[in-house]
Amino acid sequence: MDEKRAIKILTDLLAIDSANDHESLVADYIAALFANYPVQIERITYKPGRNNLVVTLGNKGPLLGFSGHEDVVDAGNQTNWQFPPFTPTLYDGKIYGRGASDMKSGLAAMIVSMLDLLESGKKLPGRIRLLASVGEETGEYGAAQLTKKGYVQDLDGLIIGEPSNFNIRVTHKGIIDYYVSSSGKCVHSSIPQEGKNAIMPLIQFAQQAQSLMDSHQEKDPILGSLTHVISQIQGGNQINSVPDQAWLSGNIRTTPKYPNDQICGELEQIIAKLNSEGAKLSIRYSYPEVPLPDQSNSQLARLAQEVVQQEFGKDCEFTAGTGATDASEYIQAGNFPVIILGPAEGKTDHQPNEFIKIEDYLLGCKLYQVLAWRFWQEYI
Ligand SMILES: [Zn+2]
Repeated sequence: MDEKRAIKILTDLLAIDSANDHESLVADYIAALFANYPVQIERITYKPGRNNLVVTLGNKGPLLGFSGHEDVVDAGNQTNWQFPPFTPTLYDGKIYGRGASDMKSGLAAMIVSMLDLLESGKKLPGRIRLLASVGEETGEYGAAQLTKKGYVQDLDGLIIGEPSNFNIRVTHKGIIDYYVSSSGKCVHSSIPQEGKNAIMPLIQFAQQAQSLMDSHQEKDPILGSLTHVISQIQGGNQINSVPDQAWLSGNIRTTPKYPNDQICGELEQIIAKLNSEGAKLSIRYSYPEVPLPDQSNSQLARLAQEVVQQEFGKDCEFTAGTGATDASEYIQAGNFPVIILGPAEGKTDHQPNEFIKIEDYLLGCKLYQVLAWRFWQEYI
């Protein structure tokens, strides 16, 4: 492996400010790296300036997916950074920059491994599809788009390169962010019988939703309980007026025992019942994400663990994640195993002075390559 090139690819990616936008710059950069190789390159536009990129290597044989997101989170207050967030800096065995951990290092390591495979001169017995997505940090809508457009359903396995410190994340919770709004009729508070208070049915909804969610006691063995928090509530304009508008928001972390469809259905039932009694409530969701069911019994998880432990001599445990990933979208396309395995430690994600150890990054570049070979051999 050309380590200098590997590091350059990562630092070039880190120099692109793709904070919640401008992913096309990342897509163009990656596409240029593959321009002279026999691969299929497809740009899938989410919005102007926001392109997903799909690069498929090989024509036949088992198809392994490599998933990485092109966006990063906002750098926040730049004065908290030791080095400017979009001026990648090598210092003390580490590479600093926004996205160094989450997750341009994982993405770059996947790219490097594909380039190395293409240059190996060996006949490759399988295929790899790189799925570089937009908007992972703000709703996974790039992954949703790739899933809908059919880029995922033919995969035989998928590795998501989010930071995992070489452990294998085999499951994570899902998320339902919801908003309920309530309408009424505004009148003077001295004649409330002529108006309609928007706050009261919202309170009924809040109480019923909370007690129903609290009744879901069955725990997932790894992820634990479903949780529900009513996180915002607002309504009314003036102390002596009957409020005609109110809204609340809630955040639910789901487990495979209580799938998103079931939970959304339950919330909607509460609303339908209150509406039948005279309320005027409506619900909307913001990018719900389904949980990733436990993958620890999959052939891919076991294979990856064996490779990390035996070929790279590193500890490798199966772990559970707290946040959702692009997996929440991709698993809706079919029945293939999905694991989250990336070279970064993940300790500095979304923080100032985000970094990855150079040694870990280079190991990641090699790991994905070895994994691809082992995957092809086992799945043929
Ligand atoms: Zn990430």
